[in-house]
Amino acid sequence: MVTARAGRAARTRRCRLSAGDWKRAPGATLGALVFCVLCACGMCLGGCSAIGSGRPAEPLAASGMPATARPEGPPGAGRPPDGAWDALTDQPIRVGLAASVESVVVSARGAFSLTVYSGAARRLQASSGEEWTFVGTDAGITARSSGGQSLELAQGTVRLRPEAPAAMVVNGVAYRGEIEVYPAAPGSLTVVNVVGMEAYLRGVVPGEIGARSPAEIEAVKAQAVAARTYAAASSGGRAAGDFDVLATIADQLYQGADFEDPVCDRAILETAGLILTFAGRPAHTYFHSTCGGRTAARHEVWELGELPYLRSLPDGGGRASRPDDAWCRSSPSFTWTVSWTGDEVARLVRGQLPAVASTPVREPIGDIVGLAATERSPSGRVRWLEVRTTSGTYRVFGDRVRRLLLRPDTGGILRSAWFDLDVKTSGGRVVRVTARGRGNGHGVGMCQHGALGQARAGRSCEEILAHYYPGTALARLRDVW
Ligand SMILES: [Zn+2]
Repeated sequence: MVTARAGRAARTRRCRLSAGDWKRAPGATLGALVFCVLCACGMCLGGCSAIGSGRPAEPLAASGMPATARPEGPPGAGRPPDGAWDALTDQPIRVGLAASVESVVVSARGAFSLTVYSGAARRLQASSGEEWTFVGTDAGITARSSGGQSLELAQGTVRLRPEAPAAMVVNGVAYRGEIEVYPAAPGSLTVVNVVGMEAYLRGVVPGEIGARSPAEIEAVKAQAVAARTYAAASSGGRAAGDFDVLATIADQLYQGADFEDPVCDRAILETAGLILTFAGRPAHTYFHSTCGGRTAARHEVWELGELPYLRSLPDGGGRASRPDDAWCRSSPSFTWTVSWTGDEVARLVRGQLPAVASTPVREPIGDIVGLAATERSPSGRVRWLEVRTTSGTYRVFGDRVRRLLLRPDTGGILRSAWFDLDVKTSGGRVVRVTARGRGNGHGVGMCQHGALGQARAGRSCEEILAHYYPGTALARLRDVW
């Protein structure tokens, strides 16, 4: 049997740990595939198998990126010229829109065709506005259209293609490229958007860095390169679903064709095909909202190996050693303070500690009698947090402390692991804890607010990338992938 999927170009499968890995979030909507199912390299530690224990949820744009102010200047000031995209020779990427769901509704903004790759290929024509509802069954997939057509397949793929350059629409969201629907586990199906890399980025970059001013385009270009590098490094990363990346913050948030932005579009075009490499392979281009004055080395915050281009760096201009002179100092999360009552801390420890402690926790945990940062990394972040209870003393490593001390206002993870603690006790028990901290995010790689600050100061995309990923090289994706 020859399917469309079988026909795609084979690519090297490799460790998928890469930029944005740590943005994996519990509660992402795609069910069983929302975790790292592939990486057997051992680098991911608990993060692969237990989202709650290893990987901070960090929807960057939603949790601290600057407000998505509309671009300044005249309308269209940052818009690429018509036809600019046509000149690109784009490489396809497979984006999982829905994995193991019961059903999906697909239409298009124009006429489209359906080709069934199951045994002999069969083609059906759909008119503009015609809606096809696909349902997973125990025997495969059934589909019916609002125009009275139907199909069934036990295995293989249905490929939906627009007749002219027009968006396909999946559950109400418009996407460039083509759509594939195929059976997953009994009673479920998977929906994939097969789209060119640059078209994919048009739906990703605005969500990662917001709609920016033309004056900030060099930072947006840096973001485009980082996001493209992430996608390149993720090739084959979701092999269990037969796609490369998910459309959620589990990989990079992909919002489709209706959220494209002219400045982001221009940034993508001006960097088209460029990724960052190290030793000839796509680099791990982690990025985060706000470093707070100094970025973190990867091995400081996660139990991962040291990488020369992911080291701790001052995020500063002239007086680089002073955190308050940092490029990201205008971030609303540059400094922050949060406070918990003793009862709130006790609830957090009981609820979170078993998942984040470096050693097994004895139950019942008992009363909280102490909380202290006993060791700091060179960048100033908490390396070990010690929790003392009446049942024992436990330690929490690096960025995992953010999953212990959830924010009292939102219940989300703490903004960063760079904080000082003020702990008040009474009668031998903790009754109040205050954290005064800096930054938002894990701190590794590119500081997005810092990149924006550098762009506003006149620094180029290349300078920004060289600052945050020293020792990496810009390369053509087609030469690497
Ligand atoms: Zn910064």
